[in-house]
Amino acid sequence: MTSIDDLPIRDDLRGREPYGAPQLDVPVRLNTNENPYPPSPELVKALGEAVAEVAGSLNRYPDRDATELRADLAGFLNADTPGAGLTADRVWAANGSNEIIQQILQAFGGAGRTALGFEPSYSMHPIITRVTGTAWVNAQRDEDFGLDPERAVAAIEEHRPDVVFLTSPNNPTGTALPLEAVEAVLAAAPGMVVVDEAYGEFRREDTLSALELLEEHPRLIVTRTMSKAFAMAGTRLGYLAADPAVIGALLLVRLPYHLSAVTQAVARTALAYSGELLGSVETLRRERDLLVGWLRGQGFEVADSDANFALFGRFADRSAVWRAMLERGVLVREVGPPQWLRVTIGTSEEMAAFRAALKESV
Ligand code: PMP
Repeated sequence: MTSIDDLPIRDDLRGREPYGAPQLDVPVRLNTNENPYPPSPELVKALGEAVAEVAGSLNRYPDRDATELRADLAGFLNADTPGAGLTADRVWAANGSNEIIQQILQAFGGAGRTALGFEPSYSMHPIITRVTGTAWVNAQRDEDFGLDPERAVAAIEEHRPDVVFLTSPNNPTGTALPLEAVEAVLAAAPGMVVVDEAYGEFRREDTLSALELLEEHPRLIVTRTMSKAFAMAGTRLGYLAADPAVIGALLLVRLPYHLSAVTQAVARTALAYSGELLGSVETLRRERDLLVGWLRGQGFEVADSDANFALFGRFADRSAVWRAMLERGVLVREVGPPQWLRVTIGTSEEMAAFRAALKESV
C-alpha cells in the first residue's frame, strides 16, 4: 500500500489533515451552518428550466467573466446595503467563498508573504493560506471573542501582514465587528484587508456591513456566499465586492472558465428568487435569539451571535457531549475553543430536538 508519505509531496503538506466536518446521515444536522429550508417546488421548477436552457449549449465554454451573474450579485448587494453603489465591475464570483479566498491569496499572498487572522475564527483561512505557500500569523480575539481595535492594530504593526482576515459575523463565535474596528485595521494594514461576511445577511439590525466602507478603501475586499442565508450551499457560489483593480488582480490567477454555465444559471435563478430564499432569515434570527436565551437560562455561556449559529459552553469534555448528542440523532460541531460546541440554527422542530438531546447529554 502506498501512503502519502511515500509520494514526493510538498514538505509543508506532510502530516496535514484534510478539512473534514463530518458528513453523517443523522436526523438533525446542525453542524455546517446551512439554511435548513430547501427550495420551494416553484423554485425547483425554475432551477430545472434554467439548467435545461443552458444544457443545449454545454458544448461551449461558459462566459469566462460571468458578466450577467456579477451584475445580478451587484444588484443584490445594493439592496442588502443601500448606498453601496456596486456595479458588475466591482463584484467577482467563484465556486464558493473558499475559492474566492484562495484566489485572493494566490494574488496577494504566496511565498515570502504573510496573512494574519484573529482566532478563534474560520479554520479554512489558515488552511488556504498555507496551501498557497503563504505564512500564517495567528493573532487572538479578546476574551469575549470581540476585537479591540488597539490590540488589532498592534498585531498588524508587529507582523506587517500582506493580507488581514476579519470575519464578521465571526465563525465559530457569531461575533460581529463594529465598523470602527474594521476602519482601524484598514488604517494600519500595509496590504489587503478581507472582511469575510459569509453570514452577513443574518446580522442584527444595528450591525453594519463593511460594504459601507468600500468606496473609500481600494484595499478592502468584502466576501459573501450563497451557501448560508441564501440556502444554496449545494450550488457552490461565493462572491466578493472590491475595487475594480482588485478584480483585475484576481483575473491573473483564476482558472479559465472556472464558473460553469450550470452554476451561473442556477445562481442567477436563485438571485431572482432572493425574496423567497431570504424569507427564512427573519425566522432563523428569531430562532437564534430564542435559543441563546434558552441556553443562558440553562446556565450555559453563549457568545453573542449575529449569525445562524451559536457557540455555547463550557464543557469539561465537549467530545463526550458531542457523542452523546449524536447518539440521540443530533449532530453539532466540535470546533473553536476547547470547551465549547457550536450549533447551527435549524427549524423549530430541529431546535426542539437539539434542546431535548442537550439536556440528556450533559
Ligand atoms: N467563510 C466562512 C466564515 C464560513 O464559515 C464558510 C463556510 N463554513 C465559508 C467562508 C465558505 O463557504 P462557501 O465556500 O460555501 O461559500
